Amino acid sequence: MNFTPLGGGREIGANSYILSINGLNIMIDCGRHPVKEGYGSLPLIEDLDRVDYIVISHSHYDHLSSLPYVLKKFPDVTVLTSTENKFLALRILNNSVEVMKKKNEKCGEPVLYTHRDVKKTRKKIVPLDYLQPVELSNDIVLTLYPAGHVMGAASILIEHDGKKLFYTGDISLSPQLTVPAATLPERADIVISEGTYGLKDAQTADRHSEIRRLNKKLKKILESGGRVLLPVFALGRGQEVLFMILKQMESGKLPRVPVYINGMVHVLTELFLTEHSGIDNNERAWLREAIKKYVVVVPRKFNWLLKEKRPMILILSSGMLIEDTLSYVFAHEILIEEKSAIYFMGYQSPESPGFSVLEAFRNSKTVTFDEEELEVNCDVDIFNFSGHANYFELLEIPRRLQPERLIYVHGDEEALENLKEELRYEFQIDIPENLENIAL
Ligand SMILES: [Zn+2]
Repeated sequence: MNFTPLGGGREIGANSYILSINGLNIMIDCGRHPVKEGYGSLPLIEDLDRVDYIVISHSHYDHLSSLPYVLKKFPDVTVLTSTENKFLALRILNNSVEVMKKKNEKCGEPVLYTHRDVKKTRKKIVPLDYLQPVELSNDIVLTLYPAGHVMGAASILIEHDGKKLFYTGDISLSPQLTVPAATLPERADIVISEGTYGLKDAQTADRHSEIRRLNKKLKKILESGGRVLLPVFALGRGQEVLFMILKQMESGKLPRVPVYINGMVHVLTELFLTEHSGIDNNERAWLREAIKKYVVVVPRKFNWLLKEKRPMILILSSGMLIEDTLSYVFAHEILIEEKSAIYFMGYQSPESPGFSVLEAFRNSKTVTFDEEELEVNCDVDIFNFSGHANYFELLEIPRRLQPERLIYVHGDEEALENLKEELRYEFQIDIPENLENIAL
């Protein structure tokens, strides 16, 4: 067996990995870099001459969004993903086409694939149920495990020649409001683990104390007449944060103000309500009613809302304020409002505008938005509502699975090195660079 990152080696990038077993090439995930643009955002597939299967762990941009592009180069590939994820993936890929088209008109960025390519992708996807082993070829068996993280997310177990290889994907061992916890196999010989929260810092704060801390701040801002922007990833944090805010409002812990969400958060919340099996029917019915009562979808023409300075909560994607997204456009206005606030819900890539806003706030500096120097007058903070394993869970995963080999991917270099340092006496650990081949 051989393992090679094409993206996601010592970074959170265009996550994509090649696992070669007896001449069979299995591509695990097929993402785009969250901050880079155009061809530079793709995994490093130039030297790849064959792919037999592509397995998609979940529908976040950095795990999914190259898929139609890669399928143009390798049209005979079979794509495997969880049944729930199939619906999401196609919806999100079609949205990516629209985003690329808009950027193409604005600044000439290439459109990497079209709606037609997404249609072709649909035909290639074979949906799989969790925990149902499937044979990829003689003596290679694949099983998807529920990964927590977001709806439809899977970890991947590949068995060959008596060896078990387990790829965590983005994983959460703790249950969330909207997704149950991950299921792990009993053991594995090789573990390929994400390491997003490999640094032992604020990310170990527990969810309940984070809800209390957020509530206190939200209440203060809303009662003093300000508005709050909560940037989210449309899939996952979108539903989790919406659910949490509505619960707090219904129980009287938060002022009952309008909650604005953008189109993509809305579409994925609808899919969550109709397709997701990890939420019970009472909660589903409750969420539906609460949405009717408090939630407004941001209309196409929203200039009036940009200037509307009254108490409201805006739950908008993207989660890291990536340029040209709705959260970026609203942040541009809200940053300068003294009474208002921007609260991040999880990890900010050091290259993202979200990270720059946090830094500017902490160091009383200005931040550049749309080529304009802005003073950060509003309150800014970061909370841990992540769907990723926290630091302690990242240590727990290999300790439970007891692998001979442990490989870390999908994390900032410092975070991955920190995990290696912590576990160096317990496991043989590799942290490959992109295109570095690891023989297993
Ligand atoms: Zn993810």
